[in-house]
Amino acid sequence: MRLLLVEDDAQLASGLRRDLERQGFAVDLADNGIDAEHLGRVEPYDAIILDLGLPGRPGLEVLAHWRADAVATPVLILTARDAWHEKVDGFKAGADDYLAKPFHVEELLARLQALTRRSTGRAEPVLRADGMVLDEERQQVLLDSGGEVALTGTEFRLLRYFMQHPGRILSKTRLTEHVYDQDFDRDSNLIEVYVRRLRDKIGRERIETRRGQGYVFQPKSS
Ligand code: CA
Repeated sequence: MRLLLVEDDAQLASGLRRDLERQGFAVDLADNGIDAEHLGRVEPYDAIILDLGLPGRPGLEVLAHWRADAVATPVLILTARDAWHEKVDGFKAGADDYLAKPFHVEELLARLQALTRRSTGRAEPVLRADGMVLDEERQQVLLDSGGEVALTGTEFRLLRYFMQHPGRILSKTRLTEHVYDQDFDRDSNLIEVYVRRLRDKIGRERIETRRGQGYVFQPKSS
């Protein structure tokens, strides 16, 4: 999953980015409202973390502009402690959740997981598909045969995206956009390499190639 983190406090932003990347998110950073608004509009993020006090353009205005332009990405706002009106204004502007500063990164991660789970229409906290269970904490997958398979960071992000979209044709471009951040050298041929490695680990038949279109995870729903 790919996130946009909008935060002008450079120290907080770099610490958060590191924690989020460790949890298997690809993260783009914006440190002002203008860049944030642009990125949120053109890049296909799975969720956005938005600080409200920003240089350039206030976070609430950025959020209102996204929603007016039908940008439906789930947004979690960062508010000041005890500023109840910021939370109300945030929800009115289209926020999906909020977190008051200062916060524990564990709470942010739990809220992000809940947010992205809801946005992909999933009720269960555990990601399960095709007889496999993805352990998002330990970044490994439990196979129906009972085996546990460790995944590298990229393999984990790729498999999570596949498991969130079973039975759908996913192009290499789309996979690349959701698995890597914008600073990454996005050669979509790399996706082929990672799909091959995933197939070696979880079984060839789980990911089907559709020539000229992309890949389908769990081609026949079972
Ligand atoms: Ca700020």
